[in-house]
Amino acid sequence: MSEVAAEERAALGLRPFDSLDPYALCREHGISVYSIDDLADVSEEAVEHFTTTKTGSWSAALIPIGSARIIVENSAHHAHRRRANIAHELGHHLLEHPFSEVLLDQSHAQSFTDDHEKQATFMAGELLVPQHAAKKAAFRDWANEDVSLHFGVSAQFAQMQMKGPRVYAQNARARQR
Ligand SMILES: [Zn+2]
Repeated sequence: MSEVAAEERAALGLRPFDSLDPYALCREHGISVYSIDDLADVSEEAVEHFTTTKTGSWSAALIPIGSARIIVENSAHHAHRRRANIAHELGHHLLEHPFSEVLLDQSHAQSFTDDHEKQATFMAGELLVPQHAAKKAAFRDWANEDVSLHFGVSAQFAQMQMKGPRVYAQNARARQR
C-alpha cells in the first residue's frame, strides 16, 4: 500500500518531504469533489442521502455514479481535516475497494468493511505524511505542530503518523550511544 501512495505522490511530481494536495490528486484521477451544500447538480439519490444523514461528525464519501466516481465532502470542517477526509476517500479509490450493497446507508462506515476502513486511513497517512518523511521529521525532532504546518494536517493526524517514527529515531539514537 505504501508503494501505491508513493507512486501517486510521484505522479504529482512530489518529493517524499513535500506536502500533497489531495484535491490535485482527485483531479488527476478525474474525481470531482462536491461540497455537501452543493449537491443539487449531482444526483437526486445523493441529495436525499446526505440531507437525511448530514451531521456535524460526517466527513466525506466516495460515491459511484455509473463508472464515474465523485467525492462529497463536509466543507464545514477545518481545512486540515478536509484534506485528511479527501485523502481517506482517495485511499478507498486507489485500493479499488468494492462498494457494499448498502452504500447509501446511514453512515460512511457501512460503505466499506472495517478492514478497508483501516486500509483507507493508512493510505491517507501515506499520501499526506509518508513514513519516510515522518522519519525525517522525527530525526529533526519536529513537534506535531511543525508536522501539522508543513504537511497541512491536524496535530492529531501528525501524532498518528509520527508515533512510530519517533520511537524509531529514539532507538536509532540509543544504538549510537
Ligand atoms: Zn472510509
